[in-house]
Order: sequence, then C-alpha cells, then structure tokens
Amino acid sequence: MNHEPMHVDTDVLIIGSGGAGMYAAIAAARAGAGVMLADRSLIGRGGATVMAQMTVAAALGSETPDHWSCHYDDTLVAGRGLCDDRLAQLLCQEGADCIREMDAWGIGWARKDGRIAQALAPGHDRPRCVYVDFLNTGPAVSKTLRGVITRTGGIRKAGDLLIVDLVCAGSEVTGAVALHVASGAAVTIAAKATILATGGLTRLYRRNSASANMGGDGFALALRAGAPLVDMEFVQFFPIGHLAPRLIGMDPIMWDPFRYKLGGRLTNSEGEELTARYGVSEDGRYLTTRDVATYAIVKEVEAGRGSPHGGAFLSFEHCGEAALREAFGPVIDRLARNSIDLTRMAVEVAPIAHYHMGGIIADERMETELPGLLAAGEAVGGANGANRLSGNAITEALVFGRRAGVSAARRAMQTRAHTFDPRAARPALDLLTAPAMPDGANTAAMMVSLQAIMADNVGPLRTGAKLEQALDAIAEMTRALGEWPVGDGGAFDLRRVEWFDLRNMLLAARAVAMVALARTESRGAHQREDFPNMNASWQLNQVVRLGDRGMTLGRAGFATQAAAQ
Ligand SMILES: Cc1cc2nc3c(=O)[nH]c(=O)nc-3n(C[C@H](O)[C@H](O)[C@H](O)COP(=O)(O)OP(=O)(O)OC[C@H]3O[C@@H](n4cnc5c(N)ncnc54)[C@H](O)[C@@H]3O)c2cc1C
Repeated sequence: MNHEPMHVDTDVLIIGSGGAGMYAAIAAARAGAGVMLADRSLIGRGGATVMAQMTVAAALGSETPDHWSCHYDDTLVAGRGLCDDRLAQLLCQEGADCIREMDAWGIGWARKDGRIAQALAPGHDRPRCVYVDFLNTGPAVSKTLRGVITRTGGIRKAGDLLIVDLVCAGSEVTGAVALHVASGAAVTIAAKATILATGGLTRLYRRNSASANMGGDGFALALRAGAPLVDMEFVQFFPIGHLAPRLIGMDPIMWDPFRYKLGGRLTNSEGEELTARYGVSEDGRYLTTRDVATYAIVKEVEAGRGSPHGGAFLSFEHCGEAALREAFGPVIDRLARNSIDLTRMAVEVAPIAHYHMGGIIADERMETELPGLLAAGEAVGGANGANRLSGNAITEALVFGRRAGVSAARRAMQTRAHTFDPRAARPALDLLTAPAMPDGANTAAMMVSLQAIMADNVGPLRTGAKLEQALDAIAEMTRALGEWPVGDGGAFDLRRVEWFDLRNMLLAARAVAMVALARTESRGAHQREDFPNMNASWQLNQVVRLGDRGMTLGRAGFATQAAAQ
C-alpha cells in the first residue's frame, strides 16, 4: 500500500453526506466557503436519510392551523423533561422553512387540493407530518439535496472516504485523517472548520433499521478529540420493525406509514389490543408513542402472549383491498411479491434499534466545545431529550445541517490560514499504514458478539446487572481488538475497515452502557426494570467525556432550563 498520504486543503470539511451533511454543504457553499463533502459510502446514499420512508414533522399549518410553539410543546413532552430547549426550539422554529425550501427545490411533497398534505403522527397534537408518496420521503430528500449540490458550485465530493480520526492543535480541530477504502490510500485533510454529520449508532444492535455505516463513528471521533457527548443512554427502539414473514427488498420500518394512514390493529397472541394493558386504548387508530409501544411488546412477549417469532401481530385485514390500494398502491404489489396479502393476514412486528437521541453537545450555531468542530443531524444530542417524536429526525437533520453550514462558513472566512500540523496526524496515519497483524482479531465474529451483547443487555429493558455484564464484555472485547489493525491495508480491505468500525463501535457502546448504568430510573427510551419509575431527581442530562482518566461521567443543565418553561 501507498505510505505517503494524499493531502487536501479545504475551508469546510463535512463528514457524512446524509440530510444533515448535504444541507450543510449547500449552506456553507452558498455562504462562500470551499467545501469538501466526505462520506464513507457513496455521496448521499449512505446512512439513514436515504432509507427513511415516512414523514417529516414541521409546523407548516397547511392542513390545520399550526405554530412552531405547538410543535415545540409536543417535542418537550415527548422528551420527558430532558430536551435541550435551545435546540428543540430551533428544530421547531426553522423546520417549516426547510420544508418550504425543499418544496421550492422540487422534492414533491404529497399534496391535497394543492396544499402540502400533513399526516397525524403519535405525540403530535395535530396533523404535522409531511411526506412523499409512496414511502419515498427519504429517497426524495436525498435525491433533491444531491441535485442542489450538483447545481451549487464550490462543493468537492469524496465518496468511499472513511474518516478515522480528527486532527487537533491543542483543543482546536484542524482537520482529519481518512482511509480511501477503494484504494487503501491514506488521506490527510486540513480544514478551517469541520462538521460531524455522521448520523447515529443503531448498528450496535442485533435487530436494527440501520445501514452498515451507522456504527457511531462520529461519537467516537468526537470523544477521542475531546468533545463531550450528552444523553447517550437514550437509544430509541422502533416498536413495530418487521419480523415475519420474510420480507425482501423493503424497509423494516415500513409499517409506520401504514399505521399513519390506516391505523391498523396491534394485538397479542390472544387477539387483545396490545397497548390496552399499558394505558393506551387505540381502537384501530395509531396513538401510542414509541417508548410505550416498545415496552408493551417486550412485556407481552415475556408474559407468553407474543407472536410465534417473539413479537406482536399487526393487522390491516379490516381495512379492505380498496383502502389498502388507495393508500399504498405499488407497495401492495411489492408485498404480494413477498407473499404478503394484507387483506388476509397479519404480519409480525417487534422492536428494533432505530434512532439515537444522544450525541455531540452543540450550541445554537452547532458549534461544539472544541474550536473548529461543529456537529449536525442525528450526531447532535439533546434536541429530543429522552424520546424523539415521529418525524423530528429529518427535520433535525435539515435544520441543524443548514445552521452548521452557515456557522462553519463564517468561521472559515474569519480564519486566515490552516493550522493543520502533519505531526498531529501521525498516530492515525500509523494505524492506517500499519503492516498486517498475524493472528489478529476475528472482526466479523466480534461484530456479531457486540450486537448481541448490546441487544440483550443494553436493549429496550435494562437492569443494573445486565448493564454491568455488558460493560465487562465491552472491556474484554476492547482488549481483544488490540491497538493495531488487522488486514493488510490494501484496496477494499474490509477486514481493516471492520477493525476501525469496531474501534468506534466499542467506544460508543461503552458510552451508552456506562450512562445507562448510572441512570437509576426509567424515563423515555431508557427503561430500567430495577428502577421502573421516573424520578424527579434524575431530571438532568448526563455527559460523557474521554480524557486522561479514561471515560468519565458528568452532568449538563439543559433539563433544568427545559423544565422551567
Ligand atoms: C430505516 C429508517 C427510517 C427512518 N425514517 C424516518 C422518518 O420517516 N422520519 C424521520 O424524521 N426520521 C426517520 N429516520 C431517522 C432519520 O432518517 C435520521 O435521523 C436522519 O436521516 C439522520 O440524518 P443525518 O444526516 O444526521 O445522518 P445519516 O443520514 O445517517 O447520514 C450519515 C452519513 O455519515 C456517513 N458516515 C458515518 N461515519 C462516517 C465516517 N467515519 N466517515 C465518513 N462518513 C461517515 C454515513 O455513510 C452516512 O452517509 C429513519 C431512520 C432509519 C434508519
């Protein structure tokens, strides 16, 4: 392999090209900065945005009068008192403007009588969620942003570029070191501002809705550079991920839009409405928030009232073929090709890891504690507190992406020269160019073990004993992974890529398990069976850092501000 790194200078480096990264690129370029948009996958095709099939929440008021403050109130309620109210407010205040901007860019939001249609989703007090028919929201968001990027000058795109570490001068972030996966080449990038738009960490779990690029890289990059993370214990489990029968070529969370439009019946093996025992009577409508539905399904399975594969039944049999076809025309045919006839059968669904509420601490400009480092999208923690409302994640990606782009451009314009020092890039370059390790770790097997540990011990329902077991296992796996990568570092050396992935996943997993163990209460997506109640003394946000003393835990004060509203 080539040991001389290729070097690139840019004003703004954006790591990750989902909705947040692409919106940031457009905003930074429009503000006059030179942008490098890097992604470990193809530009605009990796991560969650392109996979999202459902809805985007914004107080447009196009169907029913609405105001951002109503959306904000709903967001705070869902967040169970832990939202960073500055970020939640921005998300709700600026969401509608991003939706309109996307509309002007030709995304094709679904319309009724010429107005943008808005669906009612759980936790929202009125119809607020826009979408693109049929199950095309995320692909349309990605395609539209890719199109605008192509028409906007000043954005250099770099796919297949896995960022392995940030480079710092003291606490200032001055760029990054990357592996060009397709060639095996090492790359150094000097940047006046760097935006982490790397998405979430749901790949840590056995059952997930994630792509292979969502192993929490951004959280690990931030931690190693010295930036703190908040709310890492709050992993959102999507309650009705597809479980059975086998479904090929379709999104495992596709049942949510069915529920928005048609309601559907969620039942246990005895045919009882599943959530009724847990305080929500749906009567064929879609009213249950995600944390309550997840809890209900897990508990019904434990009580022996689950479906054959260990989940719940979801049925649209009562809706009839005409209603199903009107709502989901081509999707019904795709289901038929999977031998699923919704007029005659229920499907089985179960909770899957879906979204991460926690992440990098950023202010209203999306600036982190480290000069030169910004964050955007799902990588940012705090806006959604302990539980996210449906549709808030894409809004967050668009709003925070746009803000981060503007702020990064401003910083870049005010910074005369790059302060990147190649010597600071040396440790990461040494890893990239290390010779093959004989008898190195079996990374594929370790990946499967880690996902099992996280699912079984740090999943929807937790206990102190399970979390301690997880932390022990993670520590043991971290030792087994070793300090030097496996593989020979050539072109498409996926073993080496997997080693870098595990290095990040283990760090992110440790952060999640550690703060989950510390939070001795149940709140939102964090449910402790040994501490089943919400406890007012825990109305605070936990912060995790990596430093000379290893990983340490502290507290932030957002919750107090949110609670005071
Ligand atoms: C299946 C699915 C359906 C969803 N449906 C909805 C929905 O209907 N509505 C809603 O509001 N939300 C939904 N969500 C959540 C929402 O899609 C995400 O929160 C949001 O799109 C995140 O956008 P992002 O730009 O922050 O990250 P992503 O879109 O995940 O993009 C992150 C990018 O970073 C890249 N990356 C990661 N690490 C590195 C690295 N080390 N180097 C270089 N690049 C890197 C990845 O390849 C990826 O392209 C869904 C999520 C999933 C998984």
